[in-house]
Amino acid sequence: MQYFIDVIIPIPLQKLFTYSITASESGFLKVGMRVAVPFGKSKIYTGIVYKIHENAPTVYEAKDIQQILDDSPLVNEIQLQLWQWIAGYYMCTLGDVMRAALPSAFILESETVITKNIVENFDESILKDDEFLVFEALHHQSTLKIHDISNILDKKNVLPVIKRLIEKEAISVEEEVYEKYKPKLVRYVKLHAKYSSEESLSKLLSDLQRAQKQRQIVMTLFMLSSKTKKPVKVKDLVNESAASSAIIKTLIDKGILEEYHIQTDRVVYSGSEETEATKLLNEYQKTALSEIKTSFKKQNVTLLHGVTSSGKTEVYVKLIEDVLKDGKQVLYLLPEIALTAQLITRLQNYFGEQVSIFHSKYSTHERVEVWNNVLHNSAKAKIVLGARSSIFLPFSDLGLIIVDEEHEQSFKQFDPAPRYHARDTAVVLANMHQAKILLGSATPSLESYFNAKQNKYGFVEITRRYNNVLMPDIELVDIKDKLKKKRMKGHFSDRLIEEMTETLKAGHQIILFQNRRGFSPIVECKTCGHSPQCPNCDVSLTYHQYRNQLRCHYCGYNAAMMQDCQACGSQDLDNKGFGTEQIEEEVKLLFPDNKVARMDLDTTRGKYGYEKIITALEQQEIDILVGTQMLTKGLDFRNVKLVGIMNADNMLNFPDFRAHERSYQLMQQVSGRAGRTEERGKVLIQTYNPHHNILQQVSTNNYVDMFIEQMNERFNFKYPPVFKQIKITLKHKDYIRVETASIWYAKSLRQIFKDNVLGPESPPIARIRNQFHKNILVKIPKQQSLVKTKEAIIKINNSFQSIKDFRSVKVILNVDNF
Ligand code: ADP
Ligand code: ZN
Ligand code: ZN
Repeated sequence: MQYFIDVIIPIPLQKLFTYSITASESGFLKVGMRVAVPFGKSKIYTGIVYKIHENAPTVYEAKDIQQILDDSPLVNEIQLQLWQWIAGYYMCTLGDVMRAALPSAFILESETVITKNIVENFDESILKDDEFLVFEALHHQSTLKIHDISNILDKKNVLPVIKRLIEKEAISVEEEVYEKYKPKLVRYVKLHAKYSSEESLSKLLSDLQRAQKQRQIVMTLFMLSSKTKKPVKVKDLVNESAASSAIIKTLIDKGILEEYHIQTDRVVYSGSEETEATKLLNEYQKTALSEIKTSFKKQNVTLLHGVTSSGKTEVYVKLIEDVLKDGKQVLYLLPEIALTAQLITRLQNYFGEQVSIFHSKYSTHERVEVWNNVLHNSAKAKIVLGARSSIFLPFSDLGLIIVDEEHEQSFKQFDPAPRYHARDTAVVLANMHQAKILLGSATPSLESYFNAKQNKYGFVEITRRYNNVLMPDIELVDIKDKLKKKRMKGHFSDRLIEEMTETLKAGHQIILFQNRRGFSPIVECKTCGHSPQCPNCDVSLTYHQYRNQLRCHYCGYNAAMMQDCQACGSQDLDNKGFGTEQIEEEVKLLFPDNKVARMDLDTTRGKYGYEKIITALEQQEIDILVGTQMLTKGLDFRNVKLVGIMNADNMLNFPDFRAHERSYQLMQQVSGRAGRTEERGKVLIQTYNPHHNILQQVSTNNYVDMFIEQMNERFNFKYPPVFKQIKITLKHKDYIRVETASIWYAKSLRQIFKDNVLGPESPPIARIRNQFHKNILVKIPKQQSLVKTKEAIIKINNSFQSIKDFRSVKVILNVDNF
């Protein structure tokens, strides 16, 4: 009897590859284990066993596997079922899915680069001889590839050695650079222990009779710490007692006060604190919770539409509690950027060590650890709080999935394949586990709201903010009119300046939103009209003042800013449009006494870049924060009272059928950052077009009107969610070739799908990274079979690939494109 396995290899192959195994291997191997397999002339890949059988392949001779890498499956059956669904639905290969699904440390292959870990006092005695040889070699050479290691050890099967070295944390794969976090230290003060008795305290106070200011500070500190029962920050003491930090220092020097630091690295859970009881829900939350539970009896999926700050998170927490009682696992999905320390701490306070975090900015080691904990259904990973890719974790017993901020477009992976939508995939995953799934948002996607209205999903609402805090007061400012009346200073209207001045005077903070980073997106010569373009893409370069650079936001190209026009030599250069950098600059001039910071892609690189700015805002080290849409993601700042949207028009005019929906969501979300406590927040939206329907709907918080109007458009123009659509993008460096190819492709599609094919069209940015793009859109009516449609497209795609001239054209299939 001969035995074979079908193996998934992490490269885009249409079919699985079959390898031959021995009888004893067939007894040991299980579906979901890793094997090292030879591929092509000399490559070795890590593959996943997909099927064990006895049928020899007919068109090639099956090679032997090199090595079995696991003792037990790394991937379970439900995961493989999900991979299969993703590959089918999103039109990609199982290899594509495998590469996205597994942390890179699990996928050793011949191209893998190995580096030594820098660990002080690493105990080399734990290494076996062959491991030590590799470890030694890395003293002399900073990186090694698999075949180097084969040479060193003089044998072929080296993956097991590498695997053991990884497990012993002696080496890492890939040149993964991740930042070591320097925790931020916050200064606190307390009264010295010798004044803990009432007696000694009153003696101290009478001693300080003649130093009234010092006495005042001691009194304030006493009051603060007995009121809040929490450590008192130096900063709070300064604010409350209106004293200078110099006097506090005197008291510290005298030994009356003691200074200490607490690390505010709240990402790492210390495990020492006890967990808190979850909060009592108010009546609206209670109603919502019981409605969700009722809805779950009938349906697996429910949409929770709750306005910003209505306390959705606390409702999720109650649902999680219930599921944990049943011993099941919970997946809490969030957009990457909303996965903040604020939320992590909140959940860790309730659930302690049971919470695991899965985030792309975490190191492979951290990710492998979470993977293993989930795989073994360990108590440490009962709740996984994670971004998009956490749907790939090896859950075996999911009870509940929460998708918070479900409207966020970043749930859709854009590149590379699999181009999956994590929310929609999560719905499928929940079904596979017979689990419940709650989608939550203050501004649901039209897709989900439509599904709810069609009774495909259950639907629950919370229409009030927690504590009856009023929704912010939103005012539209007509900048066309302001310009005419000369009431603009730079990009600031007199209204905005007025409100900002008042807010700052009252000691509150401000958020200013501008949807573009950099200083100005277009530099234009006033003499000849020339503006510098990216040499690789069809876009103007954005001026970044901070580095005095011109940069392309599509390919990263950069060049020094020029002194004069490259076309005509004139020095009269003008900036058009504006980004966050320019706003920051202007604010600093308008409010020189206040602290201004900026939050955008340029200021938040690195693992904790984003966190640092949030902490600074929380601790009120920043008065005014200027930022891009990063600001909108679920942050909860107590002291922000004013939000300014610098320009609503560039969002509204963006060339995309979802632009209006997105603008509504973005503006509502950023407005939701204002006034989350007792005092009502204020939002100013500057625009050239205050009568725009979307702006009217934003200012009256009218989601339903927005929904009805946008759905009408979607009906009329056959867009999602009324029609499904698949976008086909062709790319090539030669324009003529991609044009010819796309015409051929569209013509073939039209023979089947008739008028439901649009294009080929050049997108607004027709060339990116030296590749010309052409888009074709296939619209799919509800009654048309999705499976058959995809089969037809794949058939056309195969014929396309077989045409010699077109073979070098890259084709991207994007199902449910965003
Ligand atoms: P959302 O997720 O809907 O924006 P949150 O859950 O963040 O709202 O709640 C907003 C604020 O109200 C948070 O600071 C939260 O701690 C507080 N809050 C919400 N519900 C309760 C409750 N039942 N008891 C006490 N505080 C609550
Ligand atoms: Zn010029
Ligand atoms: Zn470019």
